[in-house]
Amino acid sequence: MNKELWDTRDNLTILVVEAHPDDATLFAGGTIAKLSAQGHRIVNLCTTYGEKGTLDPAMTREKMIEVEKRESQRAAEILGVKEIRYLEIPDGEVKAGLELRQCYTEVLRQVRPDLVFSFDPYNPYDPHADHQAVGRTIYEASYTSHFHLYFPEQIEQGLKPHLVTKYFGWNSLNPNTFVDIGDTLEIKTQALLAYESQMQMLLQETKQRVLRAGVSLPVLETMDWQDIYRMWISISAQETGKAAKLQYAEGFNGLNFNAMGVISELFNQDSSKKA
Ligand SMILES: [Zn+2]
Repeated sequence: MNKELWDTRDNLTILVVEAHPDDATLFAGGTIAKLSAQGHRIVNLCTTYGEKGTLDPAMTREKMIEVEKRESQRAAEILGVKEIRYLEIPDGEVKAGLELRQCYTEVLRQVRPDLVFSFDPYNPYDPHADHQAVGRTIYEASYTSHFHLYFPEQIEQGLKPHLVTKYFGWNSLNPNTFVDIGDTLEIKTQALLAYESQMQMLLQETKQRVLRAGVSLPVLETMDWQDIYRMWISISAQETGKAAKLQYAEGFNGLNFNAMGVISELFNQDSSKKA
């Protein structure tokens, strides 16, 4: 397996960008917990509060923001993420484009990450428009944040251009980077369960879909909700692990931005052979 930057360098800064507070835990929680335990600085950026994620007619947007904030802070604590930021764009209304790219560029120039994790910009089948917009736009911003003539007002205000080394896209159709999460599967599970409102909502949604499909799945009614997720997280990690011959893994599309990225990857492979 190729060596990644976290295998060869200490004290990396890693920016994790999600559309909704539970996205990163769901797709990359084991990896985040692992990198945090290695001592790297992880900064989590939530583009929205995910405040529309409810099927309860009595729930308001304001109350949901409070719930999501509380749950995301608890999950961050479990994963070992010490910095969490909220961009406060309304849930379900994230638009790809110049304005969002400007916001993300500003965060990149403030946080100055070596690596960025977010949605794979090359998965056109993710049905959530927010996921598509976030993945596409943070990828574009990571590609250009080192050019001082992009959003020069940020440079005039004292920020410096910033070069991102590599981008890792989760929920990828073509993962090329697999992270062994055997040691952090339990932490990922605990962090995901901290999003109780979202996990309960997803379960309720699944039950409705199963009912509509005319399928009988009594386990959804009889099994404890936490055990359902425990089982599901474990099976998903095992499925992903098969491609890399790992027991439990998360997969990413590791994207180098240009030829220099490919060259540094070759050097990396070369030095790993000698090691
Ligand atoms: Zn989401």
